[in-house]
Amino acid sequence: MADVVLEQVSKIFPDGTVALENVDLTVLDGEFVVLVGPSGCGKSTLLRIVAGLDTATTGSVSIGGRVVDDLSPKDRDIAMVFQNYALYSHMTVAENLGFSLKLRHVPKETARSEVDNVAHMLALESLVDRKPRALSGGQRQRVAMGRAMVRHPKVFLMDEPLSNLDAKLRVAMRGELIRLHREWGTTTLYVTHDQIEAMTLGHRIAVLNAGRLQQVGTPKELYQTPCNLFVAGFIGSPAMNLVSGKLDAGADGALMLSVGGQRWPVPDSQLRRRPTLAAFVGREVVAGLRPYAISVDTGSSDDGACITVTAAVVEDLGSEKNVLFVPPFEVPDAVGGGTDTELIGMWTANVKANAEVRTGGKVTLRLDMDRAYFFDPGNGLAIPIADDASVVAAA
Ligand code: ATP
Repeated sequence: MADVVLEQVSKIFPDGTVALENVDLTVLDGEFVVLVGPSGCGKSTLLRIVAGLDTATTGSVSIGGRVVDDLSPKDRDIAMVFQNYALYSHMTVAENLGFSLKLRHVPKETARSEVDNVAHMLALESLVDRKPRALSGGQRQRVAMGRAMVRHPKVFLMDEPLSNLDAKLRVAMRGELIRLHREWGTTTLYVTHDQIEAMTLGHRIAVLNAGRLQQVGTPKELYQTPCNLFVAGFIGSPAMNLVSGKLDAGADGALMLSVGGQRWPVPDSQLRRRPTLAAFVGREVVAGLRPYAISVDTGSSDDGACITVTAAVVEDLGSEKNVLFVPPFEVPDAVGGGTDTELIGMWTANVKANAEVRTGGKVTLRLDMDRAYFFDPGNGLAIPIADDASVVAAA
């Protein structure tokens, strides 16, 4: 096993496209790191550079403490699993699994026992004599995974390996990947578009935007303490709702956020949690509210931040409802890759299943400002929570 260390890796393609800019990233020995970011942000380029299928313009890559910049892919002791895992259609499952061992002239007996071992781990034993066309999508995916595993590589590189599978199979394969990684402990760098995959598989998640690493942290750290507006908007589904407002202190010294014609009290707990918020009194800030921090107002108290809106869409998910609405104020420009609702200036509230709200109906919503996030509109950086250790890089 081995760690993977990228130091100041940049990639500029001959046509001038800057795909990666000064990326520093360490995947620890045995760690599972998931790389996420919008389309075109450089994820596949980064993976290809680690694999040796592409070269960095500047910077260097080490695997297991050894600089591999001049090593060919086959000498790096890595295995890649791609989205389009072309299996050899004329070979059986067993032959597909053992092909790379045959190429390396591994003795037949050793190869057979390796193939048997991997077929057992992936529950493919009863299928070893079948050809790929007689397999389901999930079974083919397991064979592709097995083909990468038989060599016991130091590092797995996976580029959206589950994206061709239907929703149910994805869930099953996600579980399988977690189990396999627990058993094998192979260092893994995994690219995905899928939020749930990233949050459930990654020990840590690395967020990339326009070739620059934004933040690396555990799923919880990224969700609870995003370092900037981009990460805040990208991690979490439905996305965080954003609003621009001015912070000021009321007559009694209590903090208020002025948004349009409204003034919303900001609880003291926010100042204790984010001491530097005090420096923004009298200035503009961007406030962020996750959908679960907005509830249907029950009229139990008349203080706090409430807005009355028309529900544009109510998505009844059975156990909860998502209410999409146009808020009575302007929504800042889309960040985090721009989800559909952000792009059309909407907010989303995630409310209880029994909440009285229907599409086209009016509803009063309560905003839980104790759970609000705050950002500096000048540079997009989060106004940090004291002792926030997760922020390793900023845009
Ligand atoms: P996706 O999620 O859509 O697969 P990605 O994050 O993997 O995207 P990359 O494929 O790494 O993105 O591409 C990063 C950037 O580099 C993009 O702007 C892409 O158009 C550009 N790019 C990739 N390969 C080349 C190339 N050979 N020549 C020029 N530009 C390229």
